[in-house]
Amino acid sequence: MRMSKLYLPTLKEDPSEADVVSHKLMLRAGMMRKHSAGIYSYLPLGYKVIKKIEKITRKHMDNAQAQEVLLPIMQTSEIWKESKRWDKFGPLMVKFFDRKNREYCLGPTHEEVVTDLVKDEIRSYKDLPLNLYQIQTKVRDEIRPRFGVMRGREFIMKDAYSLDIDYEGLDKSYQAMYDAYEKIFAECGLEAVAVEADTGAMGGKDSHEFMVLADSGEDQIAFCDSCEYAANVERASAEKTNIDFEDDAEIEKIHTPDIKTIEDLEEFLAYPAARMIKAVAVVADGEAVAALVSGEDELNEVKLINYLKANELRAAEEEEFEELYQSTAGFIGPVNLKNVRIIADKRLKNISGAVVGANEKDYHLKNVKAGRDFEVEAYTDLRLVKEGERCSKCSDGHLNIKAGIEVGHIFKLGTKYSENMQADYLDENGKSQPIVMGSYGIGITRLVAAAIEQNNDEYGIIWPKSIAPYQIIILSLGNDEEIKVKSEEIYEDLKTAGYEVLLDDRKERAGVKFNDSELIGIPLRLTIGSRSLENGVVEAMIRENNKKLKIEIDNIEDKVAELIKEIS
Ligand code: ATP
Ligand code: MG
Repeated sequence: MRMSKLYLPTLKEDPSEADVVSHKLMLRAGMMRKHSAGIYSYLPLGYKVIKKIEKITRKHMDNAQAQEVLLPIMQTSEIWKESKRWDKFGPLMVKFFDRKNREYCLGPTHEEVVTDLVKDEIRSYKDLPLNLYQIQTKVRDEIRPRFGVMRGREFIMKDAYSLDIDYEGLDKSYQAMYDAYEKIFAECGLEAVAVEADTGAMGGKDSHEFMVLADSGEDQIAFCDSCEYAANVERASAEKTNIDFEDDAEIEKIHTPDIKTIEDLEEFLAYPAARMIKAVAVVADGEAVAALVSGEDELNEVKLINYLKANELRAAEEEEFEELYQSTAGFIGPVNLKNVRIIADKRLKNISGAVVGANEKDYHLKNVKAGRDFEVEAYTDLRLVKEGERCSKCSDGHLNIKAGIEVGHIFKLGTKYSENMQADYLDENGKSQPIVMGSYGIGITRLVAAAIEQNNDEYGIIWPKSIAPYQIIILSLGNDEEIKVKSEEIYEDLKTAGYEVLLDDRKERAGVKFNDSELIGIPLRLTIGSRSLENGVVEAMIRENNKKLKIEIDNIEDKVAELIKEIS
């Protein structure tokens, strides 16, 4: 491609709207432009990268016996009501009415469509297993679209759905996808790690996320430094002892004027934070809940949502304390808390000698004992793990916490959708059984951003060779006719040899050409100027290490082949 003809609007400065490096560079390198919050147009260079990632994805999906289909973006509300997710997805889903007043949504994911598709087609166990996949635009009206395509409201996803007769079949299908994902990310030049994940709105049993480690990542992942345990902190657990101060003294009300936080209480009472019980007031699907965790711990909301099986969870507003909890903000506690579901972290199971809010302004209670002074609905793991805590799997190592970008997510769904939507098959004995399902997603456009987060320097993007929009860029410098002719000649030769080549034939200064070539991150650069012609050499630069070397024009094809091979 000749750059004089290419629609490549690069920017010299970082756009103010962008915070993270991938977002800045995707705008600066002319890969995309914003249409509206979280909605982008992909320009030629950006779309070329997307197509490369799609091609690699297709190859490994096809090799794993998955079959490509294309499913509707417009989906009827009926199927979402059958699966009981119409409300669960809530405002994340873009919903609308057609001219006949039928309600639709724009697909945020396709479990319902697939289940609905196969339920009338699959009759017998002989029709299974099956794995259907597609690469398509998804629409999610994210509450906080940000970081460019990392969290868009419209984004490209590869989604796949496995259909099996039993859980053994599902385990195999899941493993095949797990393996395919490892190959896809490796071939895209990404270092991605699989971690145990929460199943969220998808429901189901096992789940793994594939994470690209990067400071800009929105997810936190706990890794054991001794065993292979790795889990999203939404799900991670640590080995922690229960707390008990073995104090059977009678409960006592204490005046704690204006002391609302754990830190203030620690100072005021000269007690450790572990002695306090923090009651977090949340409203789950309209219901008042108090979640109890130790004063030294933080509540993990995802664990609480999972326990409650709630669709929506929010912190209680200050005005609601009176009405919903008969308490007051800053002084809520489990003793005599009426008409509220109380769920406690399992570390508190035997706690005695604790300090809790007295549900009265400026008062706390001390010497509180679980079981004697308050009852809870359940003790369960509700806490957020912390850096350095002991691993719950090996009990030996310690947890490190790192930020990551979720590029893929696989789920063992089981029979949740097939049961709700009656997608059954007849087994060998002629008995009707629900199809056992799995679902598997890769954020194609998020992967582009993740690749840039992992591969960039102060000059711009450094594309891994496999997903680079072009492998080679030729800079033709100056106005000399001979240089132009030579550049064209090399350009044509390398194209004929099978490379994707960009020729910078623009009437721009050398500095602009150098800068742009680095910004757009093409793996190999060849510069042809007046000195090249005198000496019969071009200057080659390898983008991944900015190493420069001279190569002979006569021998250029062989030398280029050698260099490209070396580049990662
Ligand atoms: P997140 O937790 O980041 O919101 P999710 O868990 O809701 O994502 P999945 O339903 O697992 O997302 O979707 C499969 C994949 O699609 C994700 O692993 C991610 O790579 C990608 N993806 C999800 N939401 C977005 C988004 N808003 N923008 C870009 N990619 C996304
Ligand atoms: Mg996910």
